[in-house]
Amino acid sequence: MTTATAPQLNPDARRFLDRKVHKLLIDGKAVDAASGKTFLTTNPATGETLGAVSEADKADVDAAVASARAAFEGPWSKVTPSERGKLLNKLADLVDAHAEELAQLETLDNGKIIGEAMKGDLPLCSDLLRYFAGWTTKIAGETTPVSVPYYPGAKFLHYTVREAIGVVGAIIPWNFPLLMAVERLAPALACGNVLVLKPAEQTPLSALRLGELVLEAGIPPGVVNVIPGFGPTAGAALAAHMDVDKITFTGSTETGRAVVKASAGNLKKVSLELGGKSPNIVFDDADLDAAAKGMFMGIFYNQGQTCSAGSRVFVHKSKFDGLVSALAERAKKIRQGPGIDPTTRMGPLVSETQMKRVLGYIEAGKKDGAKLLAGGERAAGLGGWFVQPTVFTDVKDSMSIAQEEIFGPVVAVMPFEDEAEVLARANGTPYGLVAGVWTKDIKRAFRMAQGLKAGVVWLNCYQFVDAAAPWGGVKQSGYGREKGPYAIEGYTQVKSVWVDLN
Ligand code: ADP
Repeated sequence: MTTATAPQLNPDARRFLDRKVHKLLIDGKAVDAASGKTFLTTNPATGETLGAVSEADKADVDAAVASARAAFEGPWSKVTPSERGKLLNKLADLVDAHAEELAQLETLDNGKIIGEAMKGDLPLCSDLLRYFAGWTTKIAGETTPVSVPYYPGAKFLHYTVREAIGVVGAIIPWNFPLLMAVERLAPALACGNVLVLKPAEQTPLSALRLGELVLEAGIPPGVVNVIPGFGPTAGAALAAHMDVDKITFTGSTETGRAVVKASAGNLKKVSLELGGKSPNIVFDDADLDAAAKGMFMGIFYNQGQTCSAGSRVFVHKSKFDGLVSALAERAKKIRQGPGIDPTTRMGPLVSETQMKRVLGYIEAGKKDGAKLLAGGERAAGLGGWFVQPTVFTDVKDSMSIAQEEIFGPVVAVMPFEDEAEVLARANGTPYGLVAGVWTKDIKRAFRMAQGLKAGVVWLNCYQFVDAAAPWGGVKQSGYGREKGPYAIEGYTQVKSVWVDLN
């Protein structure tokens, strides 16, 4: 049985997978790459090919950007804010109507488990579209009480306008392929921009299907272009393009640096959502059942392939042994398998490369003297790119498993003695994306929230996101905010208008 004939497959997903080549979406049309080249995308649960995908390179980036620019200056500029809202709401309805199909494509291409795709990724996608649809009619400027001290008695009307930025290039990763695409598309279009979306080469399918739904919703051709391709070619060409006005990038810190450098040519705006090595801190007075669940979800959700993974767990020394052995026991029992099987609780990693990278970190941890309490190997007998859920103790803050982003199901659990010590250690990496704190002491909770150098702090919870809540990091986890009202700032620019009333 091949993936495409699996009995549980939605007929629409099967029809999509039956296509010979998944083409680029440029100017509202499915087109081959200018070079004619294609690449294969695979199912990480089996290693089997899912389909051939047209491979965008510089010429295709040029075509997509030209189409986006023409749409921005032409038809899209005539669409009123209220109509933009209706179009985004229509797209949300289509995403809901195709939720199973999209979730299955996501699961097959990325490896994530179908329950998480259906209950997490997909509802968040339509919610984001509806949230930003609501914003379209509320993006307003202000009038300003100007004084002009060097021109006594003069009268002016001054006001500001929030305008679209123009052509937005979105370079996104493979861990939440559809969600990341929608997270960019929704605010970008709500603010009147147009989009050239480059999905990750490992997971191009759901974004291509989304591009078709965009057209079905009635959004004009060219407003959204989807161009799968590789990072150093298509991604780099988009980041460097002289007619792209903004890049929104999510991915590794190293690639983020390359994107910033490439953006210098036309000084395009850049927002970056990069890596993390996030602390999840359990104090001795915490609700230990809730904290245990939060530790588990924090690291193992999406196979640990989340930028917000709680990959450094700090547990107060008085509760350390109990919590760490409970975590290890639970990790050993996770049922691993293909994400498309509804009984699976943890899928494969996205690719063989990623699996090797994660196994490399596990080896480094062992060599550095950390102690394995669970996992530590490739999961045997499953075929695809599976790594066992892995729990390390006896970890020193300086070890690579405690400093570097692993992006897999590997957690370092470390004891601590007091608040000041754990705060300093929690802040002791170059990253600052998220942090979790578990305590019943309300003052301590808020003290920690103030002291943690992170873009997002969860108090007595972990891994919660919402369309309305800003998302992004500090330090080398990036800058700019996606989601929530702050995203509107990131996708608009302010014009200052003076009117002489003298
Ligand atoms: P990973 O190594 O886990 O794939 P990356 O940060 O390299 O993470 O990838 C995130 C996104 O960035 C992907 O869409 C990828 O194709 C793209 N990318 C990779 N290298 C570059 C680059 N030099 N310029 C622009 N985009 C890139």
